[in-house]
Amino acid sequence: MKKCYLGVDIGSISTKGVVIDDNNNIIAKEYIWTEGNPVGAVKKLVGILKSQVSDEYILKGIGTTGSARKLIGLMLGTDVVKNEITAHAVGTTSLYPSVRTILEIGGQDSKIIMLNNGIITDYAMNTLCAAGTGAFLSSQAKRIGVDINEFGDMALDSNNPVKIAARCTVFAESDLIHKAQSGYEIKDIVAGLCRSIVLNYLNNVGKGKRIKGPIIFQGGVSKNKGVVKYFKEVLGEDIIVDENSHLLGALGIAIISKKYESDKVYSFDVSDISFITKGHECSGCSNNCEVLKIYKNDEMIDAWGNRCPRGVNS
Ligand code: SF4
Repeated sequence: MKKCYLGVDIGSISTKGVVIDDNNNIIAKEYIWTEGNPVGAVKKLVGILKSQVSDEYILKGIGTTGSARKLIGLMLGTDVVKNEITAHAVGTTSLYPSVRTILEIGGQDSKIIMLNNGIITDYAMNTLCAAGTGAFLSSQAKRIGVDINEFGDMALDSNNPVKIAARCTVFAESDLIHKAQSGYEIKDIVAGLCRSIVLNYLNNVGKGKRIKGPIIFQGGVSKNKGVVKYFKEVLGEDIIVDENSHLLGALGIAIISKKYESDKVYSFDVSDISFITKGHECSGCSNNCEVLKIYKNDEMIDAWGNRCPRGVNS
């Protein structure tokens, strides 16, 4: 039998999974929406991955990363649970060993990781400001009636991106409404939005960081050609986007799981553990996050929906 390893990266917007073989080749992959139901999303994801893997493989390792990594680790019966920074760095350097900067923009957060010779030297994460995330781009696309899948091509078509205030969601939204009412062409507004995401990202997570090439851009938003174009333009550097750029966290945690390999053989059949969930609104700041705490036998094993650690104890 051949060996394979499963990596799951679960975020509040999307759930990503890959299965790799002993040589780190991806033999199965999937990306689905989490839809506020991490348990359901992982069951669905793992079922799809299982159908892509042939019977000649046995599952010798599982790893989880992302915001609900502890919960998902418990469901999948693994202790290999690591944060996103580590998982993204390992996944990316497995394909691009000389990478110096990883730019990542996901559905609800963004991060930057600086590396030297494959070692993380600095990083930053932004979980609080929505203006530099995929969720912001999707909501603004809806607001101006443009399909998010057309966003990238539309932005490439524009030579006059409209200037949109990029500092925070509230400013950006009201500015967008103003620009839309002022008769600007939609393609120029779309291009302006892509540019504002880039500027917001660089002014927040990228603040004070020395961004050096090779630069890899990943996360769901890396599929947006308009955002890639403005990263290139603003940084004056080439930007590499891998075909699996949205899956590199899952790839990284699958690779990490190999290091913990034992005699154990895992199953793609997700155990049906019953959890108790308790929800409340955190009043720690004006974000008022809807926090969902997940308990098993009176022990809190994970929390969901909090944008910062304070929400767990609120
Ligand atoms: S978890 Fe609480 S303190 Fe943290 S961002 Fe959300 S509302 Fe604010």
